[in-house]
Amino acid sequence: MAGTLVFLEHHEGEIQKGSLGVLAKAATVGAAHGVVVGSGVAGLADGLGTTVWVADDERLAAPLPQPRVDVLAKLVRDEGYDTVLFGQSVLAADVAAGLAARLGAGLNWGLVDFDGEHGRAPALQDTVVVDVGWSTPVRLGLFRAGALDPAPLSGTSEVRAVTVELEDFSTAAVMVEQAHAEQQGPSIEEADVIVAGGRGLGEPEKFALAEELARELGGAVAATRAVVDAGWYPYAAQVGQTGKTVSPKLYIALGISGAIQHKVGMQGSNVIVAINKDPNAPIFEFADLGVVGDLHEVVPKLTELVRARKS
Ligand SMILES: Cc1cc2nc3c(=O)[nH]c(=O)nc-3n(C[C@H](O)[C@H](O)[C@H](O)COP(=O)(O)OP(=O)(O)OC[C@H]3O[C@@H](n4cnc5c(N)ncnc54)[C@H](O)[C@@H]3O)c2cc1C
Repeated sequence: MAGTLVFLEHHEGEIQKGSLGVLAKAATVGAAHGVVVGSGVAGLADGLGTTVWVADDERLAAPLPQPRVDVLAKLVRDEGYDTVLFGQSVLAADVAAGLAARLGAGLNWGLVDFDGEHGRAPALQDTVVVDVGWSTPVRLGLFRAGALDPAPLSGTSEVRAVTVELEDFSTAAVMVEQAHAEQQGPSIEEADVIVAGGRGLGEPEKFALAEELARELGGAVAATRAVVDAGWYPYAAQVGQTGKTVSPKLYIALGISGAIQHKVGMQGSNVIVAINKDPNAPIFEFADLGVVGDLHEVVPKLTELVRARKS
C-alpha cells in the first residue's frame, strides 16, 4: 500500500500543532495515516479521523531519536508507506535524518507545501520558492515550523498497535536528565501574538517592556539574533534564518531593524507592527503599521492602553 505516514510528535500529553498541520495537509492530497510513539500515549491517537499507529512502550518514554527510527522504518517496510512527513523540531529532524540513512531515502527539509508529488520550499534566503522532488522510492519531508495551519481534525481514529522491535544499537543511548525552561504563557511557535525585542531595547533588563506587553496581550516574547548572541535573551526565543519561523496573527517588533535574516522568520505573520526610532529602518518597508518613536516612551503607553481596554 503506497501512502503517507505522518510522525505525530507530542509533548506533555498533546500532539504538537506542527504535526497536526502536516497531517491535515497530507490528508488533502491523499491517504494519510499518523504514528504516535512514546509511553502511555494510546489516548493521543483519538479523534484524528484517520488510521493512527500507536507504538506504546516504556522503552520509548524518553524523546530519543533512534528507537523512533526503528518504529518508523518497520512501519514503512511492513506497511509499504512511500512517504513519511514530519513537522520541524529538534527531535523530528533527528528522526527524519536517521530514517533517511536507515532506508536510503531522500529527505527534503524546510518544506512549506506538498501536493502529493512535489514539495515546495523557500530558497536563496527566502527570496524564491522552488519545487523540490525525490528520486528515491521512499520520500521523506520535513516541514518548516509554522508553515501549515493546524486545521482542526475530527472523527474517530482507527487505532492500530505497533509491535515495537528495537535494534540493540538504538537502546545504547539513554536519557540521563531532562530539563524544561520555565515559561509562562504560550511558546513563540504556538502564540497568536508575539512581541519581539531587538537591540533597540538598549539593555537586557528592558526585555521587561516586551514581557509586560506580551502578558497583557496573552502572547509570547521573541528576540533577534543580535540580542540572543549578546546573552540578553534565550536562544529558544530567536526568530529568523538561524532561529525559528513563526506566523502569529500579530507580530510587534520593538527596536528591530528588520534585517533580511530576521524577516525570513516572521514575514508570514498576519499583521506586523514595528516601533523604531529610525524612520528609515528597513522594517518599515514590510510592516503593516509603523510607529516612529522611542520604544521606551511608546511601549509603556501601549501596554497601559491595552490594560485599560481589557478592563
Ligand atoms: C548568517 C546569518 C544568520 C542570521 N540569522 C539571524 C536570525 O536568525 N535572526 C535574526 O534576528 N538575525 C539574524 N542575523 C543577524 C541579522 O543580520 C541582524 O544583525 C539582526 O537581526 C539585527 O538585530 P536587531 O534588529 O536587534 O539589531 P539592529 O540591527 O542593531 O537594530 C536595532 C534597531 O533598533 C532601533 N532602535 C534603537 N534604539 C531605539 C529606541 N530607543 N526606540 C526604538 N527603536 C530603537 C534602531 O533604529 C535599529 O533599527 C543573521 C546574520 C547572519 C549573517
